[in-house]
Amino acid sequence: MDSKRALIVWGGWLGHEPEQVAAIFRNVLESDGFEVEVSDTLESFADADKLAALDLIVPVWTMGQIEQAWARNVSTAVQSGVGIAGCHGGMCDSFRTNVDWQFMTGGQWVAHPGNDGVEYTVNIKPAAGPILEGIGDFKVKSEQYYLHVDPAVEVLATTRFPVAPGPHSLNKPVDMPVVWTKRWGVGRVYYCSLGHKADIVEMPQVKQMMRQGFRWAADGKRSARVDAAASSKNADKQTYTGMADSQL
Ligand SMILES: [Zn+2]
Repeated sequence: MDSKRALIVWGGWLGHEPEQVAAIFRNVLESDGFEVEVSDTLESFADADKLAALDLIVPVWTMGQIEQAWARNVSTAVQSGVGIAGCHGGMCDSFRTNVDWQFMTGGQWVAHPGNDGVEYTVNIKPAAGPILEGIGDFKVKSEQYYLHVDPAVEVLATTRFPVAPGPHSLNKPVDMPVVWTKRWGVGRVYYCSLGHKADIVEMPQVKQMMRQGFRWAADGKRSARVDAAASSKNADKQTYTGMADSQL
């Protein structure tokens, strides 16, 4: 069997140690049998055909700007079945002005009350299923991400707010998504909000969450083929770009 192919693209704000995080992800994927390409330029998103041939795209890029055509290439690839999976600001605080990216990923970071060093619990949902199998609730001392989240996502893990005080803390307590999945076309999207620094990504629970999320997201193309074989009417589905007027 051919090995699955993953592309990791790292860059953006260096406070998130993107190079180190990309190296951890590379090790995780290679130990799972992936053929991995690591890039430090968004130009890697310029070649639509190359993206479409992948099984998984892993963005590790906080607070940058992306060419709209390149964002569209990623979106189109994912809609065709390529998975996208990432963590923390590297996927959901990547391109603040690009709503199409946010529509695809399912969320955008907006705050981390208390900043780094807040101790909080990550609660795994009992119905999280195989993606988070083997991982129990755990505590972490890091940034607690407050995100604006697509209501269509499937939430697999949460953390309760408020922990640190702030203007949000007079609201009722809320269970903020930490891990979610969603579909984008037939592609699979996986996100975990942990990962402020490389040492957090190295935590056994976080690494396992990412490993199992990568596996799931990368299997979208194969499972789409199986679905298409089972139901040939999938063949005339139009690709939705959704990008005609939002990023002029
Ligand atoms: Zn951070």
